[in-house]
Amino acid sequence: MATTLTWLGHSAFRLDTEAGTRLYVDPFLTGNPKCPDSEREPERCDLVVLTHGHGDHVGDAVEIAKRFECPVVAPVELRDWLTVAHGLPEDGAQAMNKGGTESFAGVRLTLTDANHSSSNWQDDRIVYTGEPTGVVVRQDNEPTVYLAGDTNVFGDMALIRRLYSPDVAVLPIGDHFTMGPEEAAVATELLGAARVVPCHYGTFGLLTGTPDALRPLLPNGVELLVPEPGETLTL
Ligand SMILES: [Zn+2]
Repeated sequence: MATTLTWLGHSAFRLDTEAGTRLYVDPFLTGNPKCPDSEREPERCDLVVLTHGHGDHVGDAVEIAKRFECPVVAPVELRDWLTVAHGLPEDGAQAMNKGGTESFAGVRLTLTDANHSSSNWQDDRIVYTGEPTGVVVRQDNEPTVYLAGDTNVFGDMALIRRLYSPDVAVLPIGDHFTMGPEEAAVATELLGAARVVPCHYGTFGLLTGTPDALRPLLPNGVELLVPEPGETLTL
C-alpha cells in the first residue's frame, strides 16, 4: 500500500492514502467528458475538498457528501453557499480559508492562495463563492501533494515550497482559463516539486495546453507524470 492518486479527467482527482482514507478533490464527475464511466459513481468517500466554486470543480460534491455523509472542505463562502443553497450540514471546521490547516480522517489539509475567480449559478444569477484556493495534502511519512486548483503562476509559489515542500505538484496546464505549459514550467521551478501531474487540459476545445508542450520546458530532473483519465499513480 501507498498513497495513490487517480485522475478522473479535468481537475478531478481521487486520492487514497496508505491508511485507507479516500479523498476526492474537485469531483466533477457528472458531465465531465473525460471522466471514465467506471468512476462516475464513487463506491465510498471519506472526504471531499473543493478549491473554488466553479461548476467544473464543485461537480458532484453535494451528492457525494449526502450519500456518504462525509465532510466537504471548501473556502468559507463556498462552503456557506453549499449549506444555504444545497443543504449541506453547516460545519465551521470544514469552512476554511487560505493559510489554515485542519486534519480530517488522518489527512492534513492546508488551503493556499490561487489566482483565479470563484462563482456559481443560483437560479438565474451568479453568486460569489469566495476566493479560489489550492490545497496541500499532508500525511505522516507519505509524499506531500499540492493541488494548485485553477490558477496562473504566481511568485508566492515560492512560499508554498518554503512552507510545505511539496513532493508532487498537480498543476493546470490547459491555458485560456488557467496556466498553460509555459507558466506551469515556471510554477514547477518555484514549487521545487520533483514530480508534476498536469490537469485541466484536453477536456474542452479551449483547453489547448498539452503535457508534450510542458515536458521540454521543465527544470532538469523533474518527472512529468501523465496519467490517462482513470489511471492511478502510486506516489
Ligand atoms: Zn476549472
